[in-house]
Amino acid sequence: MSVIKNGSNRRQFLFKCGVTGVAAMGAQSVAFSADLPPLSPNDPMAAALGYVEDATTTDVAKFSRYKTGQECANCQLYLGEGDSEVGGCPLFAGKTVAAKGWCASWVLKAS
Ligand code: SF4
Repeated sequence: MSVIKNGSNRRQFLFKCGVTGVAAMGAQSVAFSADLPPLSPNDPMAAALGYVEDATTTDVAKFSRYKTGQECANCQLYLGEGDSEVGGCPLFAGKTVAAKGWCASWVLKAS
C-alpha cells in the first residue's frame, strides 16, 4: 500500500489514527501505571510521530503542526494525574510519556 511507504504519508496516517483514537475514546478513562518504562523517542512509532520528551525540542521543520504550549499534559490522550511528570498514552501502550513531551497526534484536551 503506497500510502504508508512514503514518510510524510506515513506520518499523516499515524496522525489520523491518533485523532480517530481521540474520537473513539471520548471521556473514557484508561488505567496506566507510572511504574511503566518511559517511551523512547527512538521507538519506531514514536519516531514516526516525532515524539520528544521535551516539547520545546520538536523538530518544527518536520512537524510544523507543533505550536508553542502544546505538550502531553494538555493533550486529550494524556492519562496523567495532577502534576505528575509522566502519564500514559493509549498510542503507546505499556509505556509512559513525559508530561512535557509532544507528538504529532497531539489534540487539545477538552476543558
Ligand atoms: S502528545 Fe503525548 S499524550 Fe498526546 S498523543 Fe502524543 S504522546 Fe500521547
